[in-house]
Amino acid sequence: MSDCIFCKIALHEVPSEIFFEDDEILAFKDIQPLAPVHLIVIPKIHLQSLNDVTLEHERLMGHLFGVIRRLAKELGVAETGYRVVTNTGTDGGQVVGHLHVHLLGGQALNATIG
Ligand code: AMP
Ligand code: ZN
Repeated sequence: MSDCIFCKIALHEVPSEIFFEDDEILAFKDIQPLAPVHLIVIPKIHLQSLNDVTLEHERLMGHLFGVIRRLAKELGVAETGYRVVTNTGTDGGQVVGHLHVHLLGGQALNATIG
């Protein structure tokens, strides 16, 4: 989608600090990190939110969570623990309308973080 910031990041039209990329998934550093490790992991295709995910995306979602698991290990938080968060819609606090998963870790997370 042309006016979507995360689509622009996926197309490398807007710079980001990339931690993982393949044809389907991009992981990059959150611009306003809330923890020592704070990545945003997105499917490159534009899906507005979790509400747009269907069975058609089952393999893609499995792949996305596999990437998160690998990144958590590489970044050294797999053993200490981490949190994955997907805000959905207005009440869920979703600000960017492109499905994304936050990966947070590197400190003990309290209920207000993420
Ligand atoms: P939310 O939609 O509330 O789940 O959160 C969107 C997240 O995207 C926030 O944590 C922002 O800091 C982050 N964000 C917004 N724009 C950018 C950007 N250009 N690069 C990296 N992270 C961003
Ligand atoms: Zn998008």
